[in-house]
Amino acid sequence: MSDRDALLRIVYENAGEENQVPLSDLVATATGFLDHFAEKSLVGERFSNIVETGDGATKFSRLLEACGCSGDPETFFSQLLLTLGKADGNETISINGIEMPHLLLMAILEVVLPGNQFISIKSCEQLEKATNIRVPERRRADMQRVIDTYPVRLSMHTIRQMRVSGNVAYQYLPFVEELDTVGHTNTWIGQFHQGLLEQMYQNRVIFLLNMTCPVYCRFCFRKHKDSRNESNPTPVDVEKAVAYVQNSPSIKEIVVTGGDPFVNRANMACAIDGLMEIEHVQNLRLATRSIAYYPHMFLSEDAKLLNYLKRKNLALQHRGKRMEVATHFIHPDEISPQSLLIITELVKSGIAVYVQTPFLKNCNDEGPELARLFSLLRGAGAELHYIYIPCSPIHGNSVYWTPISKGLAAGNYLRAHLSDRIIPRICTATPIGKMDWHTSGWAVEPVADNPNFMWIRTPYTPEYFKQFATLAKDLDNMRVNAEGTIDVQYMAQIGDESIFLGARPARRDVKPAARRPKGVEEVLPLVRKCENRSHSIVDTGSATLSRVHETRVEIDTGCSQQDLDYIGRDERITDVVMVSETDATQSLYRINQIIGALGAVPHVNSVRLRSLNSNYEPQSYTAVVIDKLGDLNKLTIVNPLRLEIETQFLVAEELTPAHKRLVRRLNNKGITVYNNTPLLGGINDTPDAIHRLAYSCRQSGIEFHHLYIAGLPIQDQWNAANPISLYDAVDIATAVRRQGSGREVPRYMIRTILGEVDFGLSSAFIGDGENVSVKLLCYDLAYFKAMSADFTWPAGIREDGDGKPIVPVSGLLKTTDFALS
Ligand code: SF4
Repeated sequence: MSDRDALLRIVYENAGEENQVPLSDLVATATGFLDHFAEKSLVGERFSNIVETGDGATKFSRLLEACGCSGDPETFFSQLLLTLGKADGNETISINGIEMPHLLLMAILEVVLPGNQFISIKSCEQLEKATNIRVPERRRADMQRVIDTYPVRLSMHTIRQMRVSGNVAYQYLPFVEELDTVGHTNTWIGQFHQGLLEQMYQNRVIFLLNMTCPVYCRFCFRKHKDSRNESNPTPVDVEKAVAYVQNSPSIKEIVVTGGDPFVNRANMACAIDGLMEIEHVQNLRLATRSIAYYPHMFLSEDAKLLNYLKRKNLALQHRGKRMEVATHFIHPDEISPQSLLIITELVKSGIAVYVQTPFLKNCNDEGPELARLFSLLRGAGAELHYIYIPCSPIHGNSVYWTPISKGLAAGNYLRAHLSDRIIPRICTATPIGKMDWHTSGWAVEPVADNPNFMWIRTPYTPEYFKQFATLAKDLDNMRVNAEGTIDVQYMAQIGDESIFLGARPARRDVKPAARRPKGVEEVLPLVRKCENRSHSIVDTGSATLSRVHETRVEIDTGCSQQDLDYIGRDERITDVVMVSETDATQSLYRINQIIGALGAVPHVNSVRLRSLNSNYEPQSYTAVVIDKLGDLNKLTIVNPLRLEIETQFLVAEELTPAHKRLVRRLNNKGITVYNNTPLLGGINDTPDAIHRLAYSCRQSGIEFHHLYIAGLPIQDQWNAANPISLYDAVDIATAVRRQGSGREVPRYMIRTILGEVDFGLSSAFIGDGENVSVKLLCYDLAYFKAMSADFTWPAGIREDGDGKPIVPVSGLLKTTDFALS
């Protein structure tokens, strides 16, 4: 601060506090922010148009001018601090009608409201002081009861976020409706619990290393005394749990969680070091929400914790194991440069980061906010794993509940408007385990005489649990259905009665698996023949570019400048899939040129190389090829251009140790490898074949992205004579969910000439026998016209009464009246 530097004052109106900051600090912060972060994806279109391009100082002078403070930063900041002093998250903050972007406000708040500590709130007065809100007189007594019943703990990071975002405040601020006792106190039944170890699934266990969280989310059961007051385990307890895993060869994965396990470093170190030495353990999944709400934990002391994780990951890799970090974001306002940096750093070091998202009413339940959130996270390198619908019914969190129909509708929105690579699985965590909507589970019917509950068909069976946990017999909230799987009662509203699908009848068709199984070699000649660019859903005027989705194009490596111009003109395109006649590994010179050109197109944030060589000729990925690919992968906080490899494996037997080595080397460059598998009649259309494939992909570090039930060119040719039974598709999804890790579950897809849809979720089946059409629930005529004004329905397409297209699909067999089989 220079001698002549002005000191500006901020008065936090409701908190009754004030602070003074040098003007020069504010100017430096704003200029630095504009220099690095004033990109449309982070600050919005209007703001980025105002500040335009140039260095931070130039952009700042344009901002001052637009705000009516030309050349006068003192007036600008005086106005801004006056508004920030009143801010409690409920209003947008504007100067001269220009809304200040959330991230800029956060940067300014880091100057005027500094610190990284936690605050435990014990009274209404303390709450008002920390959050700058005013608790009305008539609510104070109730609010105090909430605070006394459920802990309120906030990090300074969340406190800053809450002042400028109602959507963040909604997650962490206590509210008097928490006193409502409808709902459960926990999300599981309890029979899976033994000390710090919880085993809900045969192949994986949960280690609860720490019972508390740095910050309490109001929708979560962790705020309950029952769980929070359980005593924390000690390293001796952790050693006992490690010994249990040592003696249980079926356990392949350990989810290390809490509370936040990173809060208890001694237990964390004991768990990682102990599990690392167990031969049959393959994956460690470390769960923390701190990346979103307490990034300081990873970045303080020269990123000590981040570096610790990187070191441990190398040690795990050395033993053939993998580390993943699970985190949890709900709304785009939670995104910060710090959180994106942590994700990027982890992914670049070969540690996959995956995100789970509870679906909260009036926060992220429409679709567009999730699309923005997921796009930002993906650019940094994260995978999107689950959306949980609805938010678990816990005491006092009914404000967050949505009906099931709302979650499914948001899924349809995402399918139409978001890259396929970032659409999470839509699942519900029932008291006996997770199910994926309309593949491994569905809503059967309402529970008689109890309008708050419904029966959900799960993929689990009594035999499954017998092997590792005792499910209490005669529990009246469960029943075994005619298929032999368990229906469980779940507390939620359906929102649309047509979503109750009833029970699945016994199968009537001859099980295709009973036909003569065919070897992969029979289909291999077709595989290479079908490695082409996909059919375009609208006319692009180009023979080398296909539009396959609103957000995605496929281009030949021999594409033209006009093709690149097409991509540059349409801001909805985020993903470019490159297809080469000779495979990606032999087209790197051209791929390099195209990626160079796409680097100047900020809305494209991912390039995907389709490469059968990654399966059939892994040796073609030489050290120099991997090095070049690594150079092309731009995982950055601002304007990322992520590189991914798309592969195709048909059966588990195709995966060899060479693939595992290759994927690890690519992962260590931050490059994800994902697999799309066509289901082929007689080749791989059994639960066992796909379960083993899913398992092998995971062991090799390959993300199993799509399992195509129908519609790929190879399926159109092969499955015409070897159709896939819808019944088998549900059986496959059931087995994969029950027997595998949740990280192995693919999305079950159908490709049509109008694009892709999720099996039974964004699609409905019409017809029977081999005469099956698919209604596409997520697209209508306007959707296609927005991409090509001249678009009309292609021949053979019918439009249903609700405007949704019905498309014939070959190679499918529908044999019952049940919607999904
Ligand atoms: S951080 Fe996770 S476990 Fe803790 S309260 Fe929030 S959601 Fe629950």
